[in-house]
Amino acid sequence: MTAAPAWTLLVVCAAVTASVPVQRNDPETQEHCGYESCPPIKDGMINVHLVPHTHDDVGWLKTVDQYFFGQNNIQKAGVQYILDTVVEELQHDPKKRFIYVETAFFWKWWNRQDDSHRHQVRKLVQQGRLEFIGGGWSMNDEAVTHYQSTIDQMTWGLRRLNDTFGKCGRPRVGWQIDPFGHSREMASIFAQMGYDGLFFGRLDYQDKMNRLSSKTAEMVWQASDNLGKDAELFTHALYNHYSPPPGFCFDVLCDDEPIIDDKHSPDYNVDNRVTQFIQFAKLQASFYNSKHIIMTMGEDFHYQEAHMWFKNLDKLIRYVNLRQANGSNINLLYSTPSCYLKAVNDAKLSWTTKQDDFFPYASDSHAYWTGYYTSRPTIKYFERLGNNYLQVCKQLYALTDLGPEDQVDLNALREAMGVMQHHDAITGTEKQKVAFDYARILSRGIAECNIITNTAVNKLVPLRKEYPTPVWENCLKLNVSQCAPSEESKNFVVTVYNPLAQVISPYIRFPVTGSSYKVQDAKGNSLPTQLVPIPEPVQNIPGRMSQATQELVFRAVNLKPLGFQSYFVSQVKSEESNTYISDESNASGNFGHKTYYYTTNRRGVLKTLTTHGVKFQVAQAYGYYEGAVGDNEEAINRSSGAYIFRPKSSTPKIMPNRSQFKTFKGPLVSERHEVINDWLSQVVRIYTDEQHTEVEWLVGPLPIKDGVGKEVIVKYMSELSSKGKFYTDSNGRELLERTRNARPTWHLKLEEPVAGNYYPITSRILLRDTDKKLELAVLTDRAQGGSSLKDGELELMLHRRLLHDDAFGVGEALNETAFGKGLVARGKHYLVGGPSGNVLTVYERQLAQEKLLTPWLLFSRADKYSFESWSKTYRMEFDGVKMPLPANVHLLTLEPWKGRSLLVRLEHILEKGEDPKLSKSVTVSLKNLFAPFEIVSARETMLGANEWKKDSSRLQWKTESNSIDRHEDTHQGSLNHAEDILSVTLEPMQIRTFVVEVKYAGK
Ligand SMILES: [Zn+2]
Repeated sequence: MTAAPAWTLLVVCAAVTASVPVQRNDPETQEHCGYESCPPIKDGMINVHLVPHTHDDVGWLKTVDQYFFGQNNIQKAGVQYILDTVVEELQHDPKKRFIYVETAFFWKWWNRQDDSHRHQVRKLVQQGRLEFIGGGWSMNDEAVTHYQSTIDQMTWGLRRLNDTFGKCGRPRVGWQIDPFGHSREMASIFAQMGYDGLFFGRLDYQDKMNRLSSKTAEMVWQASDNLGKDAELFTHALYNHYSPPPGFCFDVLCDDEPIIDDKHSPDYNVDNRVTQFIQFAKLQASFYNSKHIIMTMGEDFHYQEAHMWFKNLDKLIRYVNLRQANGSNINLLYSTPSCYLKAVNDAKLSWTTKQDDFFPYASDSHAYWTGYYTSRPTIKYFERLGNNYLQVCKQLYALTDLGPEDQVDLNALREAMGVMQHHDAITGTEKQKVAFDYARILSRGIAECNIITNTAVNKLVPLRKEYPTPVWENCLKLNVSQCAPSEESKNFVVTVYNPLAQVISPYIRFPVTGSSYKVQDAKGNSLPTQLVPIPEPVQNIPGRMSQATQELVFRAVNLKPLGFQSYFVSQVKSEESNTYISDESNASGNFGHKTYYYTTNRRGVLKTLTTHGVKFQVAQAYGYYEGAVGDNEEAINRSSGAYIFRPKSSTPKIMPNRSQFKTFKGPLVSERHEVINDWLSQVVRIYTDEQHTEVEWLVGPLPIKDGVGKEVIVKYMSELSSKGKFYTDSNGRELLERTRNARPTWHLKLEEPVAGNYYPITSRILLRDTDKKLELAVLTDRAQGGSSLKDGELELMLHRRLLHDDAFGVGEALNETAFGKGLVARGKHYLVGGPSGNVLTVYERQLAQEKLLTPWLLFSRADKYSFESWSKTYRMEFDGVKMPLPANVHLLTLEPWKGRSLLVRLEHILEKGEDPKLSKSVTVSLKNLFAPFEIVSARETMLGANEWKKDSSRLQWKTESNSIDRHEDTHQGSLNHAEDILSVTLEPMQIRTFVVEVKYAGK
């Protein structure tokens, strides 16, 4: 941590490049890319758009690097060879096309090319022969990802393409061919990024049958209840997953017959193969509306020897098209998804619309891909922690003017988070050793960012230049109550940084080893503190390296937006201390504080909750499902595994009501520590001045000696009459209504009554009772699977330990261990309840933001200091903004962009009609928002920051007139194409993105 940061040596940087989406015109070529480069089609025929493609997982059975270099023989896959040989093939024939999707891999390859190769590749891109599709750093999952990280990972991938290829590197089509179901928010994000369409491979098998038979596998997805046309996206469900037609796989990894066109050969097969292909093409065409069909000619890691594919495709095209002389109406061409899309758009047909999402995904009647919503809960948490820190790093970088952006320190975490979004990373559907490698990549990114936070904070704190700079440590294991500086130092400083643009007053806690403390704020005021014991099950978590048995709690009152406050913590004699030792009792009775409390029954079990003046019944129960076991040969014999949730019985085994609990009360927080059994315990926590319950669950090591895989759940039961309905968030943003045992667009036949009712909970799940006007919501600290299987009940899956593979490729049971034992997971639920309506809705929205971007703690050991000497040496307060943003506006992004410009995103966090005041449009002035700098100009971009908003023009699609168009385009913002916009108006749920030029104070 003490090493000089890299950029102190590198501040003399290359001349600032354009801080804008680049439009590079190569004078040498002057060719066309994009739709203008599309191959000619034949009118009156069925045009078969052959799309040579490869699906390159950014880690799955092998690590990212093993896939790139082709190491490790468990799967023959080397991405570098794919790009090498494809580029070679494309150069020989201007008709050939190839698409590339995962920018993480492309960038790795590009960095290893010499100038002449790069020149050749640029040419191919400028001529539309090599086209980027999708274009995110990875092909992100859509169920368990948070919108902030999805936007970030797309932005980072698009940024690299934009910097390298300019306009011709801008993908026009979303390509989510493998993720296991599709979220409405993802479609909305693509639309807001200016994409013209979305293609995907996986949707529920019943949905797919219905859509094919009713010719509605192509539709206009109206992906937001708030954003109108800005969130509409043409969407195509692929016919044959993302595979070639059966029998026509010509890769070195396939065994299908090549096209043998030597008439003298006994194996001559052209006539047969052509007939076969034409039959398939006609069949596929019968399920789609236009005269065009798309065929994905490739699979996972195909084209390592690209010549094999292309040689056979050349022949296929030639011989199929020769039949046209005999009256065939099938026309084959090398194409791309965007060229297919353009051709379909040119047909000017009308399309049906869709307003819900594509979750959950089932591939057959017993394979519901709802297990991965929870699989590997600790990686899912680590990823959220990574996002939290990435935002902190980016903000501090921008606020403290750390210089030109193109430094590696920040990029390591940007890229790590991009990798984590991949549909086999955050999902938990990778092999164990790959999961370890993801954790390694993320840890490295976090370590690099620690250099940034140190440099940034130390640019601000020393009151004189010559004062030594403190060392700031992260405590990444606070979730298991472990933190070296707070445990080992008698005096230390904790600097609490608030990444939100609103004032907050969070409770801060960390483990300590002393018995009385003094916590002083910047002004020297001694704050009230409380010591709370660390529950024994937490102390016993395998691998926890801590002697601490207590945590110190205090409240950081009025923490300024994008600002920090340092607190000087010192171990003192009890008479000098302001520390309250929690009262301990085993008694039942009310639990909570004056305006928010539970009553309990005689055995101490929570019974009713009183909040906002109403009282209603709530209860809680833990349990587990036993994972189904089978040989996976037939649907009915499917095992529960990393992807699939399939309980043996629909009734979980519920843990008996516990009697073992202790309560700890004090002025700041009341806690109940409950031990349910030797692998399950929880803390129920209510902070004074907060109107929600924090439930900190601890699960594991899950016992498997009985040979039974276990999927642990918690239920929150209430008296709410929810009438079969519940609500879940879509990637942390808009809410979707769910109906038990039903889907909005087809009549569901359900043979898995539990798994088939599970949905991804990225941020919250809630129930409403419209008669009693009550609402109960659970917010999560990571993605989990959840449902409401009975009226009044919410259920969330916390952890899974399974002993069998579900046979979808990963080839391992999801049996995580750490420190020689079953993996222990600890996490939080935030329970919010009360009269339904705007007050609660707004509370939930704001709480979700506060828990996503929690205040970041930086610790500095200060044993040689007293408060007085520290405060004379170091600044203890910092304000990042001049005025907090309004309550409904979220600063989604503040980061260094190109050269010395910054990227800023503002977001309206409420939906229409959620609050009479806060759901209205809101105007914010950018000019004087930030304290350290003034924004001198702002140019609006599309959501992905790779295209100026004024330059964007998307393909228009007609929707069927019989569907009521409830989406009006009401956005002033989208009509406002002024170059410089310093006053920003946001409509409900709108995000607006700006590249801003700034002037730092004193420069
Ligand atoms: Zn994949």
